[in-house]
Amino acid sequence: MRPSLLDPLFAPVTSLPGVGPKVADAIARIVPTAGMENTARIVDLLFCMPTRVIDRRDVTTIADAIPGTIATLRLRVDRHQPAPRAARNAPYRVFCQDETGEIALTFFRAHGEWLTKQLPEGEIVMVSGTLDWFNGRASMVHPDAMAREEAGGLPPIETVYPGTAGLAPKTLRKAIDSALERIPNLPEWRDPSVNRDDASRPPPTFQSALERLHDPQEPDDVLPDSRAWRRLARDELLAGQLAIALVRARLRRRGGRAFSSDGAGPRAIEAALPFQLTEGQRVSIAEIAKDLGEPEKMLRLLQGDVGSGKTVVALMAMAHVADAGAQSVLMAPTEILARQHFSTIRPIAEAAGLKVAILTGRDGTGVRQPVLDGLADGSIDICVGTHALFQQGVTFHDLGFAVVDEQHRFGVHQRLALSAKGLNPDLLVMTATPIPRTLVLTAFGDMDVSRLTEKPAGRQPIQTASLPIERLSELAARLEKAIADGRKVYWICPLVEESEQSDLVSAAERHAWLGQQLGADRVGLIHGRMSGPEKDAAMAAFKAGQTRLLVGTTVIEVGVDVPDASIIVIEHAERFGLSQLHQLRGRVGRGADASSCVLLFRGPLNEIAEARLKVMRETEDGFRIAEEDLRLRGEGDLLGTKQSGTPGFRVARLDVHADLLAEARQEARLILATDPDLAGPRGEALRILLYLFDRDEAVRLLRAG
Ligand code: ADP
Ligand code: MG
Repeated sequence: MRPSLLDPLFAPVTSLPGVGPKVADAIARIVPTAGMENTARIVDLLFCMPTRVIDRRDVTTIADAIPGTIATLRLRVDRHQPAPRAARNAPYRVFCQDETGEIALTFFRAHGEWLTKQLPEGEIVMVSGTLDWFNGRASMVHPDAMAREEAGGLPPIETVYPGTAGLAPKTLRKAIDSALERIPNLPEWRDPSVNRDDASRPPPTFQSALERLHDPQEPDDVLPDSRAWRRLARDELLAGQLAIALVRARLRRRGGRAFSSDGAGPRAIEAALPFQLTEGQRVSIAEIAKDLGEPEKMLRLLQGDVGSGKTVVALMAMAHVADAGAQSVLMAPTEILARQHFSTIRPIAEAAGLKVAILTGRDGTGVRQPVLDGLADGSIDICVGTHALFQQGVTFHDLGFAVVDEQHRFGVHQRLALSAKGLNPDLLVMTATPIPRTLVLTAFGDMDVSRLTEKPAGRQPIQTASLPIERLSELAARLEKAIADGRKVYWICPLVEESEQSDLVSAAERHAWLGQQLGADRVGLIHGRMSGPEKDAAMAAFKAGQTRLLVGTTVIEVGVDVPDASIIVIEHAERFGLSQLHQLRGRVGRGADASSCVLLFRGPLNEIAEARLKVMRETEDGFRIAEEDLRLRGEGDLLGTKQSGTPGFRVARLDVHADLLAEARQEARLILATDPDLAGPRGEALRILLYLFDRDEAVRLLRAG
């Protein structure tokens, strides 16, 4: 249960004065909202950081202001000159002066009554805006801000927030001001000795940091490296690291076991492989075998680009565990991937004398029962499947090892599913996202890492080109020729949401069009709304070569392996993120043929889209692409938080706060070493921290023990 102390912060923004459903909707568009319901809470609003400030501390004069730049002036209002009735387009002018001269504040289509109130004749006002000179007269067209001195004038420093339609800056400002008043008195969770920013001053409290950011005293207060921002970033990173450490401690709690193998199983697998292992695979296999052989529990991440050959590494590890008499599971994020793993693994594993089965949510009882029996009596050595592996009614004779294939989605979800089952196997997580090391730490915490950095021998580079959509028919003609030469083509369309008004074509429409161009029986289609067997059939037809071109959306079939597909067209490439483009491209270039990737785009391209396509043309190096992606999009997207639903970061920015991450990790370890159940007074405060940053999943783990 969330401490009731936090209730005021977790109330919806609609509980603030002046915030109705419409404003709340607009706020939800600019702040990341946690949870399923799409209403921002007060805490979400408070974590909405200003993007910049307007600095009005320097009040200047009409004569000294630099033309064309924003100036703040202190003026006396002389007279109003409304636009003549006859000349509708003529401006409304308000003449004002200071000791250096006169200026005309100029308004088009002005509301005279409102202006008279804002700028009463004879009064002193503060005005801020861009000053210009025309024919020797100073003027300011539509000042950015105006306020009577009597009413307090203009704030010397004003924060600017991300804007959205339907949300006036003033309304947002008012909401934030009332939100600041709702912050309760919170206990301090920081260990004062860990704050090393400035030994002479105590760090700002959580509350004063938020106040400082929303009500800055200096423009620098709203920079990410200000004391206030760093305090909050630290808090968020500590919450994240603490949550990860709790999961890890829970997974490790029951301790591991040593699996001993004389190497017979892995040797038999290797003998059955139609290829030579790469050096990287050998090293990773050795690292994993060493972990498995030790009594410590294994928590290891296997990182390798799409096509780098992670599955074989996992299989070798599972053979090791089978030698020691225990069972293994391989858990895939989707049904299709599970089936694909099954079909690659089975022949090799069976040749090596291992029994392999598959269990997914789709199987009927007839198929399912023998698998359940085999898992319970221990006759099945390896079981491939989806999360159905951990549903009710599945019992294992002796589960020793779990491989979780997260492809490019990740989160602790599958791992939590495991631990919820009370199972405690050694764990290998496979990911195809070539994330930089700093981010491995944030996403996975303290895992050991093995990396596959080279591709299997014999792979040819992929030729990548970008092409405007206007040249579509030219492309179709080239594909027709390529297909006649026996090649296979993927054609990827972005997912079109039903609500989306746009000129994007859906996969279905593109399928129909390509069918007309290339022959309907040669063009297949696969998308998320097809039933499981329909998807299987579409994949099988493409694998077997009955269809030569497969149109699909990205959702379901990331990671599919059809080695002789050698061309991929990505339509609306400008809509995809860099890591996603890279993942998609990785589906070709797996066989011996030279492969190509066509990035079909609809111009005009914005700068970022242009940069992405350029990176794609220039490199195939997943790690370089990851770095560029980080630069272009920000780490939240890179981590694929949207797909997996894992909360990303609100306040911390790893490009600025990377130094705080290592610190947070250390602090989290220290905390759990001294108070593993967060039961002490500081533990109480830390639980509050976990709630504030929506890391309370971890609090539930504490209770479950
Ligand atoms: P990923 O890392 O994307 O999961 P896979 O394990 O699916 O990659 O492997 C991609 C393809 O490369 C598969 O067809 C696999 O059989 C093949 N492969 C794996 N290792 C090697 C190797 N050492 N030499 C040649 N081909 C390999
Ligand atoms: Mg794979």
